Amino acid sequence: EQEVQPTLTFQDLGLKKQILNSVKKAGFTVPSPIQAQAIPVVLSGRDMVGQAHTGTGKTAAFGLPALNNMKRDNGVEVLVITPTRELATQVSDELFKYGKDLGVRTTTIYGGSSYKRQLDLIKRGAGIVVATPGRLLDILKRDMLEDFAPSMVILDEADEMLDMGFLDDINEIFSYLPTNRQTLLFSATMPKPIKLLAERILENPEFISITKGETTNADISQEYYVIDESERDDAIIRLMDAENTGKSVVFCRTKSEVDRLSNVLSNAGYLANGLHGDMEQRQRETVISGFKKNSVKVLVATDVAARGIHVNNITHVFNYHIPFDPESYVHRIGRTGRAGTKGKAITLLTPHEFKELQKIKKKVGTTMEHAYVPSKNDLKE
Ligand code: ADP
Ligand code: MG
Repeated sequence: EQEVQPTLTFQDLGLKKQILNSVKKAGFTVPSPIQAQAIPVVLSGRDMVGQAHTGTGKTAAFGLPALNNMKRDNGVEVLVITPTRELATQVSDELFKYGKDLGVRTTTIYGGSSYKRQLDLIKRGAGIVVATPGRLLDILKRDMLEDFAPSMVILDEADEMLDMGFLDDINEIFSYLPTNRQTLLFSATMPKPIKLLAERILENPEFISITKGETTNADISQEYYVIDESERDDAIIRLMDAENTGKSVVFCRTKSEVDRLSNVLSNAGYLANGLHGDMEQRQRETVISGFKKNSVKVLVATDVAARGIHVNNITHVFNYHIPFDPESYVHRIGRTGRAGTKGKAITLLTPHEFKELQKIKKKVGTTMEHAYVPSKNDLKE
């Protein structure tokens, strides 16, 4: 007879009392699978590679044991590297929350803001630094940080760093870091260059993978609609009306398409806003915070701009154009269905784009249903 495996609790994982308190305050009742497996390994001091799709709680999987093991003497003990400033802010906020009762200070380093302020915050005793690759490398090269020797280094969302072209920077960053350190690498997918990177920067790592043989989350239902090129705007609007969407992200291929479509949707009465790399940092932050606070309901974005957006309760992801690259499809739809909630991913494609659809189907291995755009009459009830 098979023994029933009792559900693990956070108490079973070997975390300190203060950390357990923050977990409780965060409202987490049970550890997610990646947390249950990763936390004991990280606590033991081993290097680790963790693979699990987006929304599965990877931040706490490294954040809780990292805080738990901090010695709290002097200087920066933990360095987290994330692909975008938005993500750096988000991870930093989360770590601050978990570490508050321990009195651990967390700060960020990223481009587009003052060096002085960022460096001052570190000098004033930050124990954790969350950084993006470009600015971090710049600071290390210019030797602007004295005695910077974190004993734990975490590469978060490594596959996104690869997609954004940061691998060379990452390699160079590691040449400035102490060799006597614990290194963790987290990623939703494990393309070859990430495996190679892991071999270079980690020592005898434990591999933890929670993928259930799929690259996408079972909580995301996926549909595609075949349309004519001229019908895209109409189709998006009709689908939004028919779907009763909450917060949604609409992915476009180009910045100009983002500008145009967000105007079309605003004119049609949606609380829509665009997000792309040519916008000023302040403008981008306003849009993202509006999206978090629900004053923006439809975020129209390019792939790169949306990389850093990890907002909960996104009910729908729309692919205004099917992406060329299956990995990009996986990333896009991973914006929804986070933390165990249901989400829906809807892709528009013309008959000319079936080849892209086949590539994606092969890659994701889950079912994508063919559906029909509701006619104008269907919606008039
Ligand atoms: P990932 O990095 O894997 O994409 P995150 O770390 O951003 O995922 O977590 C996604 C969401 O799930 C966050 O809002 C986080 O607060 C929440 N979360 C994490 N762990 C748990 C847990 N054990 N129970 C409930 N919610 C959790
Ligand atoms: Mg994450």
